[in-house]
Amino acid sequence: MRIVVASSEAVPFSKTGGLADVASALPKALSLMGHDVSIFVPHYPQVHARNSTAPPLDDIGVTLRVGVGQKTVEARVLKSSLPDARVTVYLIDQPGYFDRPGLYVENDQDYRDNCERFVFFSRAVIDAIERLHLAPQIIHANDWQTGLIPALVAAEMRQIAGYEQQATVFTIHNMAFQGRFWHWDMNLTRLDWKYFNWRQMEFFGHLNLLKTGISFADMITTVSPTYAREIQTPEYGYGLHGALTARKDDLVGILNGVDTEIWNPATDPHIAQKYSADDLDGKAVCKAAIQKQLGLPVRADVPLFGSISRMTSQKGFSLIGQCADVLLDQDVQLIFLGSGDPRYEALMSQLAADHPDRVSTTIGYNEPLSHQIEAGCDVFLMPSEFEPCGLNQMYSLIYGTVPIVRAVGGLADSVIDASDINRINGTANGFTFTDFRGDALFWNISRARSLFADKAAWRRLQLNGMRRDWSWKRSAAEYVRIYERAIAARRRDSECEGEEK
Ligand code: ADP
Repeated sequence: MRIVVASSEAVPFSKTGGLADVASALPKALSLMGHDVSIFVPHYPQVHARNSTAPPLDDIGVTLRVGVGQKTVEARVLKSSLPDARVTVYLIDQPGYFDRPGLYVENDQDYRDNCERFVFFSRAVIDAIERLHLAPQIIHANDWQTGLIPALVAAEMRQIAGYEQQATVFTIHNMAFQGRFWHWDMNLTRLDWKYFNWRQMEFFGHLNLLKTGISFADMITTVSPTYAREIQTPEYGYGLHGALTARKDDLVGILNGVDTEIWNPATDPHIAQKYSADDLDGKAVCKAAIQKQLGLPVRADVPLFGSISRMTSQKGFSLIGQCADVLLDQDVQLIFLGSGDPRYEALMSQLAADHPDRVSTTIGYNEPLSHQIEAGCDVFLMPSEFEPCGLNQMYSLIYGTVPIVRAVGGLADSVIDASDINRINGTANGFTFTDFRGDALFWNISRARSLFADKAAWRRLQLNGMRRDWSWKRSAAEYVRIYERAIAARRRDSECEGEEK
């Protein structure tokens, strides 16, 4: 199958979150299955220059002239590939829109022209597909930044000879980010205002690009089965639960996989000693190494808790704040790595300043350190308010670092609670709770501490997590089934349209 994936970020070119991991790991897995996959991303020169692992780029001499509102904007197409994979990456180079310090935000402020930037990018992807004669069977768009693509395909591309049956898939990685803009931005899309209605692109008087993707795509996916159900409720749907329920027969949750070439303790170049489910000795070495490196007392007997995360309310930092006092009365060590909301950065930094022998906080983004924390910690904390899929709990499971999670979204689909001995001897791999409260988190930290003292039971929990297959192979096979459904649905629709004519 020929597949084009469009995303606003993809590892190793650019990354602000889980979307970037998915946008390269899924194509990689699909290409290993024999599919022909290309990725489109914007070229962010400043981000690229800062990134020592960014692959080289070739200018292929193609200039696009993209219509955005009243303007025609020129862009170059650069070409690269994913390391160790037969996946072509096309980067849309338009310095006016993308040569900036951040991807979407600078100094905590969204770029004021975000709508224009990603309307441009969505149109550029469609133009480039035609110019490069890629003729994909599937165009797979992701999140609001490329939510316009399914609409452009439906309204324009299918009128072009050869693209009449072009099928689209749209994946929602996080309902909280919808790309909502004032209604006049509809003019930027160059689509007819007839589409600006409550069933398609409009949301309470605003242009909504996430809703646009949901309305026009042939199939919709999101990143875990539980999240697919949750987003059809008012609590998690952020106002779009109605739009999603209307398409519930075409909405499927597929749990993300993990790129096990990057996240594997048996081969990880960042960690002090490699280890595996067959020999966990190296994990103790990694624990001592991270304690030493971060200035915590080097002790094997104390349970070491880790967190690597955007520091935002979504990730449940308020719960850590609520139980910090009682928690730090116990014999525990905590490591925090992340950045985000200044409130939580200050709170976590203060905990470290007040308890230097118990807490280490690193503010910032640090890939090697994130691997070292995963390898060195005993327990991983992820008490999210909501979590579409979550990757770090799966990295933790692979690294034998037992997760404590709130049972929402992908956390509920990947972590099985150690509620009793039968489960511990069977499939349990962590601790889960439902109430979004500090005492519920604290109670589960206490459960983890007592089980940590039972070395045999703890080892079983670790191995249950480490031995399950978390790779992209399983998820990629599910995506292929969705692509096939999208192609079949499109064929059916165009046959019906043909009969109507
Ligand atoms: P989200 O996409 O909501 O931020 P995920 O758990 O799905 O959360 O993915 C987050 C990704 O970003 C993971 O790969 C995680 O390791 C990484 N990450 C987050 N914060 C940091 C940080 N400060 N340093 C290194 N990696 C980080």
